[in-house]
Amino acid sequence: MNKIVPRMRVAFVPMKNSFLGIARAIIYNNMFRQACDGTLVLRIDDTDKEKSNADYHKILNNLKYLGLVWDEGPDVGGPYSPYVQSSRGNIYVEHINILLQNGLAYRCFCNGNNDLCRCHEISIEESTRRSISSSFCVKFRLHKKIDEIDDLIHGNIKLDTSCLKDPVILRSNHTPTFHIATVVDDTLFHISHIMRGSDHIQGAFIQKQIFEAFGYPVPQFAHFGIYTNMDKSALKVGKYELSLEYFIEQGYPREAIIEFLARGGYNDEVICNEDGICVENFSFSKFSKSNIALNIIHLDAISKRVIKTMSVEKFLRWIKESHEEELYSVPVEFLLSQKTRIKNKSDLLFNIHSLYDFSVEYVNEVKSAMGSICSKEEYEIVTSCMIENLRVSKEWTITNIEQAFNNNMSCDKKLVYHIIRLMLTGGRPFGDLHELILLFGKDNTIKKLTLFNAAVE
Ligand SMILES: [Zn+2]
Repeated sequence: MNKIVPRMRVAFVPMKNSFLGIARAIIYNNMFRQACDGTLVLRIDDTDKEKSNADYHKILNNLKYLGLVWDEGPDVGGPYSPYVQSSRGNIYVEHINILLQNGLAYRCFCNGNNDLCRCHEISIEESTRRSISSSFCVKFRLHKKIDEIDDLIHGNIKLDTSCLKDPVILRSNHTPTFHIATVVDDTLFHISHIMRGSDHIQGAFIQKQIFEAFGYPVPQFAHFGIYTNMDKSALKVGKYELSLEYFIEQGYPREAIIEFLARGGYNDEVICNEDGICVENFSFSKFSKSNIALNIIHLDAISKRVIKTMSVEKFLRWIKESHEEELYSVPVEFLLSQKTRIKNKSDLLFNIHSLYDFSVEYVNEVKSAMGSICSKEEYEIVTSCMIENLRVSKEWTITNIEQAFNNNMSCDKKLVYHIIRLMLTGGRPFGDLHELILLFGKDNTIKKLTLFNAAVE
């Protein structure tokens, strides 16, 4: 007997600032795909022209950059191509016509005046006659009953569907809505498992009834907890700070992003390495039913650990793949000294920018911040003394640099360190100051302190 291969899918609307949750859905579907040797399909749901406002190729590139994979989709093709809904022609309208002919759907002529709609009472003949001259949308005739779904994560869920309005399946501009398009494609793509966020649970009851209306098998649903804000309120999807683009542009290592997304809602170890995502003993029971507060601090912690444990070769390879010129212009030793301090490449670039900033603006900004920590006299003594001490030091060593902080320095030692650190780094965290000065070099250090010294008024 042939083993039936489970088929799952991830579908998304191509929107600007594509939500982080798309990657999370692919990760979870991939975990299941690996566990059952299944097939993952990627589908672009772009029938809503207003919402679909981005080039899906860019989103696919970002997903691929993270190392995510799928078996069938718009870029890799597959036996049920095309995988882009806007390219699937009249298929949805033909299905809607079948429902209309069988009285399982009806035309609504109310133009959005839903509360007073009695269009479900109009006879098929009358409806067909009016459709010639009036605009309409099509609604699915929902059975009002206590319905149930056996969800692989939530178990048995019941819903009184009389609390739901009959859903629109064809807009008045003759484009199909999500509910019908997803049922048609999930059927034609032979999808056996629909694994997605729990914000789709209510919709699943509508889709189940549409599958049943056609006599199609209903796939197994598995709804995992979705991200919320820290205060449990709903996230504003479409925000740049919550987008894949943002996290990639911030320069978090891809392994860190994947691990962060995978662990937020799956209660077991998820290993992410260059070979992909790996979980042992995958189980739907390990998924969180409740929603998860999106806490970027966790990503920062994971990312710091990932960067810290990279080999030197991998770290330098990772740095160089971003093509930022500043990252090439600083000594390798300096880059390596930052390995245990940074959480992403933005962090590193910020550090480099402030360290290598010799501009008047930088000097003025740091100087004004220093007004409260030292007097004008102290500022002058520390800078001129430090410049002189560094200048006369013959060899550029840690011992000599340490010595430069002591010779003829009449000010409080703590204050001296504070002032010099601020001048060089602008307050960015750099660790040991002697080591930083050693790596920054004699010329650069003296050049920067001289700018500050010249700015004494
Ligand atoms: Zn109506």
